Amino acid sequence: MKSKSVTKTMKNKTTPNKTRAADVSYCDFCDSTDMRARNVEMKMRHGGRDYSFANVAATVCQKCGHRYFHASVIDELERRIDAGRSRPAA
Ligand SMILES: [Zn+2]
Repeated sequence: MKSKSVTKTMKNKTTPNKTRAADVSYCDFCDSTDMRARNVEMKMRHGGRDYSFANVAATVCQKCGHRYFHASVIDELERRIDAGRSRPAA
């Protein structure tokens, strides 16, 4: 039996001088450690509407393609929506 103890800490600190891709060293889904920072298109549902953003900093698993976003990135996108600077996708 595989006994793997995984302790995961999601840090929420702001690091303005570094890329804001999520700090993920391995994939939760396939356990791959081949993670790469990339800018991706992201769709997000907020306030009952769908929004689409381009060039969002993400950490992408090279094996299964799962994408991880830093909490501060999500916060910023929500702020943009709330400020009315982003229109919902069609
Ligand atoms: Zn994966």
